[in-house]
Amino acid sequence: MAGVLIVSELLRAAVNWVRDVQSELLRDYISFLIHQKSIDADLAFYESADFYDHLHRARDEAGYRPVALLENLGSLLQNGITLLAMGAVLVPFGLWLPAALLLSTLPALYVVLRDALRRHEWRVRSTPHERRAWYYDWLMTTGQTAAELRLFGLGNLFRDSYQKLRRRLRTEQIELARRRGLAELGAAAAGLAVTGGSMAWMIWRALGGGVTLGDLALFYQAFNQGQRLMRSLLDQVGQIYYNSLFLGNLFEFLDLQSRIEGRAASRVSVCPRTVKEREGGRTDISLIPEVRFEGVSFRYPGANVPVLRDFDLVVPARRITAVVGPNGSGKSTLIKLICRLYDPDAGSVRWEGVDLRQLDLDVLRRSITVLFQQPVRYNDTVHDNIGFGDVGRIVLSDEIRAAARAAGADGPVARLPGGYETLLGKSFRSGAELSVGEWQRIALARAFLRQAPILLLDEPTSSMDSWAEADWLERLRVHAEGRTVLIITHRFTTAMQADTIHVMAEGRIRESGSHAELVARGGLYADSWHRQTARDSSWATVGD
Ligand code: ADP
Repeated sequence: MAGVLIVSELLRAAVNWVRDVQSELLRDYISFLIHQKSIDADLAFYESADFYDHLHRARDEAGYRPVALLENLGSLLQNGITLLAMGAVLVPFGLWLPAALLLSTLPALYVVLRDALRRHEWRVRSTPHERRAWYYDWLMTTGQTAAELRLFGLGNLFRDSYQKLRRRLRTEQIELARRRGLAELGAAAAGLAVTGGSMAWMIWRALGGGVTLGDLALFYQAFNQGQRLMRSLLDQVGQIYYNSLFLGNLFEFLDLQSRIEGRAASRVSVCPRTVKEREGGRTDISLIPEVRFEGVSFRYPGANVPVLRDFDLVVPARRITAVVGPNGSGKSTLIKLICRLYDPDAGSVRWEGVDLRQLDLDVLRRSITVLFQQPVRYNDTVHDNIGFGDVGRIVLSDEIRAAARAAGADGPVARLPGGYETLLGKSFRSGAELSVGEWQRIALARAFLRQAPILLLDEPTSSMDSWAEADWLERLRVHAEGRTVLIITHRFTTAMQADTIHVMAEGRIRESGSHAELVARGGLYADSWHRQTARDSSWATVGD
């Protein structure tokens, strides 16, 4: 007895340890899989609510469901063995007794499985509402929205909307629990009837002298215990079923197929050569490519109208090309297509005549550096915020400083208490906040750090004042020297710096030429230019 007690205590401690280690490892591994999928998924996935539903369910439950599944399996095995022993005790009283035991739990099995399925279906159905509740929660608790929330008094509105959604979800969940409770009651009654019948039969035999009182006690104990074990076994089966439905969900998420094929299609070596030469030292001018849109038609996933229809454009090598035009005309879409965040529905984007789809995706993206319209504000040091522009190699501090100077970020950085080692953003202790324009310059420095042959800038000066803009444009000329540069802008002062300006409206190029040519032509560009200069001079008069 002493030996058994000691061993069982030792085993208990060991089991707890294994459970903790296993759950930590498994949780992290599943998170790794989810993160890997999220990183690799096409950008288009992030525009589908369905993807977010899958992601939400996978992420929300990844922490505990796989661990619970493993534990359920363990308990199932354990209880199964004990149950077999109980069955063996009952056999001498009659072979039909273990069968009756099994039969008495069938209604409960049905209840448990149906409940697991119902709960799962409810979970899938209610994910959009859960996500919306989560979204309200985020709106109320993040710093990004705090100012507007207060100014427009939106806090109460969002709090009530959150509560309303939660109330609905809660009511549905309580209803599920109520139905489960009732069904369980019915199943338990069926189980009790079988126990009662078996006991009556045993008592009848005892009265007839067929069995002793000791046998009766043993029978009662074994039958009762067996039923209890069956119930917990059933619960575990239900849990396993429910958790495996979740795993189905997770695998569905992990199985989502990307449409942007990158690695398999790498048949042409134009890009690798360009990159190799560049890594060997300075950028080799002869390898700077021309980018060409040929008959490109493109519609965003789920959108009704195409953004581009039979679109042609040449972005010549070693030149600065600007695209200007009203909002929504498809300018930023051009950048997304060059980066292969999307592929065109028809036509092609070509790199020195080679369809981008023929190039290795990684190498293509390493050959491009880009400033997006809404760059990410990494809550990290200034050094890392810029260094993230080229993580594939060891970046020297001097290079970071040079990129910052080129982007006009050196001034704001010098004012920070820790210089390049200052933590940016307010999420972590001792972080410093920058103005929108200063953040934009940091993002520009990040784009400049990567010495890529193609430089794509989406509204690079939108948050700069006119003094900073003039200063920056001068630096851009030096930095862009010999590269293929595409600038999307709505500022004439920025566009003027380009060798060629294209005016884009409703997905088409309407006019092209240098600033002087376009002004002289008297078309769309000239019209906007005259209106803007007239407005600026009237401002100057007011200022005077
Ligand atoms: P621009 O840069 O000229 O302002 P965009 O290229 O960003 O214009 O967008 C062109 C059009 O495509 C707009 O009408 C916009 O509504 C639509 N659009 C942009 N991004 C998406 C998207 N991710 N999904 C669906 N439609 C989009």
